Amino acid sequence: MFYHRKELFYPVNVGKPDAQFGQFLLEQFGGATGELTAALQYWVQSFHVENAAIRDMLQDIALEEFNHLEMVGKLIAQHTSKLDQTKVYEAPLFKMKGIGPHFVDSQGSAWTATYINEGGNVVRDLRANIAAEGGARQTYETLIKHTTDEGTVKALTHLLTREITHTNMFMKALDSMGKLDDPFFGTIQPDDTVDVVFNLSHGEDARGPWNEKPLKYIEDPQPKGKIPSAPINPDDEKTPTSAK
Ligand code: MN
Ligand code: MN
Repeated sequence: MFYHRKELFYPVNVGKPDAQFGQFLLEQFGGATGELTAALQYWVQSFHVENAAIRDMLQDIALEEFNHLEMVGKLIAQHTSKLDQTKVYEAPLFKMKGIGPHFVDSQGSAWTATYINEGGNVVRDLRANIAAEGGARQTYETLIKHTTDEGTVKALTHLLTREITHTNMFMKALDSMGKLDDPFFGTIQPDDTVDVVFNLSHGEDARGPWNEKPLKYIEDPQPKGKIPSAPINPDDEKTPTSAK
């Protein structure tokens, strides 16, 4: 069951409307790293997670992201609908689609479900969520650097902060399953190359914990396979060498 309360989750008070900044904000409304993507990603993941506590966490965070979507929508509405409308209509996107938020990103590309990363396994999903939160946090940082409006900065700083909190929750959930620092998950055992790392970019090589002991570093990797057989294509053009 869903119901909606008209009060905002956190205050949104734009002091000086800026239609151009409103267009930037669309990145977090209808963009890849935006709140619609996050809300729908965590919500749909909750349908296939067996663990009741993690399912509950995903539902709690999904609903918080819907609150964020509403806040970003209100920010866009306030940046494009107050006071002098001339500036609004100088921002090409709002000139065409009208004021307020739309499910497009800052460049006008339509939101797509391909932004959502989910499916099949809770460890896979939680790792995808850490990446999603990182993307959202980074977009908020960029947005904050492009506005001086105090009310906007305050709301965006809250939104950036919450993505850090969500990252922490997802990391703790993975840790509770012993999967925060264990790359293996799932039911199919890896082959004997799992601890082998290859030096495939030759030149000024640098080393780090990702390719040091106990991992086995192969300085000069050699192919383990043979040259594959040539393709057979009856429709391909025959040249003097290939058509005997
Ligand atoms: Mn959010
Ligand atoms: Mn989040």
